[in-house]
Amino acid sequence: MTPDERIVVAGAIVDHERRMLLLAQRRYPAEVAGLWELPGGKVEPGENAEDALRRELAEELGVEVRVGAMLTERVTLRPGLTLIALRAQIVTGIPHAAEHEALAWVDGPTLADWARDGALIPADTAWVPELVGELGRP
Ligand code: C5P
Repeated sequence: MTPDERIVVAGAIVDHERRMLLLAQRRYPAEVAGLWELPGGKVEPGENAEDALRRELAEELGVEVRVGAMLTERVTLRPGLTLIALRAQIVTGIPHAAEHEALAWVDGPTLADWARDGALIPADTAWVPELVGELGRP
């Protein structure tokens, strides 16, 4: 990884029974406004991905999360900008849309439907098979 390479980290936030995933509806930019994403944002220089995700989710959703393992897929958004996702669970707080249009908890079949219907931001569809396979598993 070159020094000017940046990471965007998203949170695959699941409820305590691991049945539902939290999606957030983007307000901007125009190309993706109205589409749903795993909430997150850019890792700042000197920050690790886990800390960046905790910071972003506190800012965007008002929650404190415990961060877990990375999802398998890494997505190149553009040269020098890579998107990853870390599993997360809420430790404190009830999520609210501070920066998004809306939030939704979806189960596996709903996530698959939304992805098929084009409701997710394109980059985030990379994680759908893995998440659909995990949600609702005992
Ligand atoms: O959220 P923010 O605007 O900081 O995201 C930076 C870039 O990462 C944007 O291009 C956004 O579309 C992308 N992104 C993404 N999937 C996410 C979060 C961000 O593709 N779950």
